[in-house]
Amino acid sequence: MYDINRIREDFPILGREVYGKPLVYLDNGATTQKPRCVVESIADEYYSVNANVHRGVHFLSQQATNLHEASRETVRRFINARSISEIVFTRGTTESINLVASTFADSQMKEGDEVIVSVMEHHSNIVSWQLQAARKGIRLRIIPMNDRGELLMDEYERLFSPKTKLVSVAHVSNVLGTINPVERIIEIAHAHGVPVLIDGAQSIPHLKVDVQALDADFYVFSGHKVYGPTGIGVLYGKENWLDKLPPYQGGGEMIQSVSFEKTTFNELPFKFEAGTPDYIGSTALAKALDYVSALGMDSIAAYEHELTVYATQRMKEIPGMRIFGEAEHKGGVISFLVGDIHHFDMGTLLDRLGIAVRTGHHCAEPLMRRLGIEGTVRASLGLYSTREEIDTLVAGIERVSKMFG
Ligand code: PLP
Repeated sequence: MYDINRIREDFPILGREVYGKPLVYLDNGATTQKPRCVVESIADEYYSVNANVHRGVHFLSQQATNLHEASRETVRRFINARSISEIVFTRGTTESINLVASTFADSQMKEGDEVIVSVMEHHSNIVSWQLQAARKGIRLRIIPMNDRGELLMDEYERLFSPKTKLVSVAHVSNVLGTINPVERIIEIAHAHGVPVLIDGAQSIPHLKVDVQALDADFYVFSGHKVYGPTGIGVLYGKENWLDKLPPYQGGGEMIQSVSFEKTTFNELPFKFEAGTPDYIGSTALAKALDYVSALGMDSIAAYEHELTVYATQRMKEIPGMRIFGEAEHKGGVISFLVGDIHHFDMGTLLDRLGIAVRTGHHCAEPLMRRLGIEGTVRASLGLYSTREEIDTLVAGIERVSKMFG
C-alpha cells in the first residue's frame, strides 16, 4: 500500500522548516529531494569502494566498475531497453540532447534538412538544435498546440517532408503538465521513415516508461529529477542509431586504440563516454530507480494523479485563478497566475510561508509567447506530496491574493 507517512520519512529534508514554517516542497519539476538510500549510497561508495573504473586491475577498481556497470543494467531494466549497449551515461537531459543534436546533425543531416520540435519544449530541446541550425544550415519546424495545451496532431502530420530528418519532443511538458501522445507521435514519424527523440525529463519520475513498447529511437532523462543525484543522466538510443552516430567527445574510455596516425573507437556505449564517468552518481541513480520501482511506478502515477485532480479542483476555487495547461492527459504540474499579481511576487510571498514553488518562464520562453504571458507560478508534485501540502498552498495563495486586494 502507498503509505505516504512512511514514504516521507525516507526523505529527511521534508522534515525541515524554512522561516519557522514546515517546508512545503512543490518544486519537483526543477529537482526532486533524495531518499536516504541515495544519499547514503554516495557516502558509502566514497568511504569504502572509491577507485576509478574500467582501467584498474586492483580490487577497488574492479568493485567500483562492477557497481557502475550493474547500475547500467538497473537503468536498462527500468526503461526496458534491449541491451546495456543502448544505455549511455551523460550529465543529464541537456547533455543527452546536445549529444544527439551534435552527432546526428553531423552525420545524418545536410543544409536545408529539418527537425520537428513542439511549441512546448524546454530550451534544452530548442537551443541544442538551434546551435546545429546555425552550424549546418538546418531548420526547426514547430508543432503547434491548442489552448488546453494539447499538440495539434493534424498540424504535426503536415510538417513532414522529405527534408524531415528527426522529431524531438517532450513526453511531459514541464510547464503545462501535458502528457503528449508520444506513441502516436512516434508511429507517425516512423511511417515517414523518421526517427524520434523523446525528452523524458518530466516523465521518468512519474510514469512507467518502456522504450521498446514506445519504439522510441532515443529517450533521455536526468537523474536528479527522479530522486537521484545531480550530475548524472541517461541517453537511451537504439543500437542501430548509436552505431551510426560518430563520437561526441574525445578522451579516455571512448577509444580502442590511439596512435598519431589513426585512432579507433570503443564499442557501445563507451564510444560516447569520454573521460572518467560519474560512477558514484550512477550507483546512486540505480538506488533511486530501485527505490521508485519498489514503490511501483503505477502506484506513484495513481497517487500523483489523484493528488493532481484534488489540487486542480481546490485551486480553481480561488477567485481570479488562471491555470495554464488543461490537457485531458496531464501530470502533476500546475502553472498558474492569480488576477494581475506578478508571478514573482506570488512566488516570493509563498516562500515566506514555507512554500517552495517556481516562478518565471521555466526555460520555455517560446511557450510563454504562445500563451501571451511572461511567466507563471508553477507547483509541481512529487511522490511524497500530500493533500495537506496542497491545502497549505491554497491557503497561501488566498492569503497573498488578499494582500493584493
Ligand atoms: N527537458 C525538460 C522537459 C525539463 O523539464 C528539463 C529541466 O527542467 C530539462 C529538459 C533539462 O534538464 P537538465 O537541466 O536536468 O538537463
